[in-house]
Amino acid sequence: MSSDRQINIKTPAQLKIMREAGRINAAVLAKVREHLQPGVATADLNAAAEEALKSHGCVSPFKGYGRPPYPASITVCINDEMVHGIPHPKRKLKEGDIVSIDCGTIFEGFVADSAFTAGVGEISPEAAKLLEVTEGALFAGIENMRKGKRTGDISAAIQKYVENHGFHVTREYTGHGVGKEMHEGPQVPNIGMAGTGLLLRPGVTIALEPMVLIGTHETRVLPDKWTVVSADGSLTAHFEHTVAVTEGDPLILTVL
Ligand code: MG
Ligand code: MG
Repeated sequence: MSSDRQINIKTPAQLKIMREAGRINAAVLAKVREHLQPGVATADLNAAAEEALKSHGCVSPFKGYGRPPYPASITVCINDEMVHGIPHPKRKLKEGDIVSIDCGTIFEGFVADSAFTAGVGEISPEAAKLLEVTEGALFAGIENMRKGKRTGDISAAIQKYVENHGFHVTREYTGHGVGKEMHEGPQVPNIGMAGTGLLLRPGVTIALEPMVLIGTHETRVLPDKWTVVSADGSLTAHFEHTVAVTEGDPLILTVL
């Protein structure tokens, strides 16, 4: 995700389409959430997402993305897996796991991108705090999606929120502009300095996505060339919304 990708300001008509893409994406994620039970295979979660996408006449931009081509419509990450986990029929959820689901939807040529982490049954107090802090960091970032603010304000807010709660935020993986392409400019890191970066104006749409780790900020990629895990095996969480800057309050596109 290079920082020189083009920044595309969306028209009100385009934002309306992106809002619909976001609504569908939220419905798909809600369907997947219903299946987060012990014994369910991660490939079953992907199948549930594909069925829900199909019912809306949509597909995910994830399938075939990148190199090697990503093979599924969602990513599923369990415990120490942070992002880009590939669903598998033999990988089953267990009581006490935390599971991150990331999904994209293409609707009328525009992309919505959103993720959440949730527990399977009862989870440890530490895992529950991780989920709470990661989602809190996302909303601390969203609060800065305002006309006149800069992308660095978003990054700084996310970093500060996470570190104030004693956790670590990823260095390598970032939020990003989103629109006709899943990854457009600007790049929005999860760490940064307030007052720096691109000036926000109405029509800027960004997928904000804090990825938070309990142990250290370090990660590594598994031999499948996709799955990113915490280097020390500690738990990780990931929350993401696609959000538009408006004349007023931030507009979260990826909700029902
Ligand atoms: Mg995503
Ligand atoms: Mg994203």
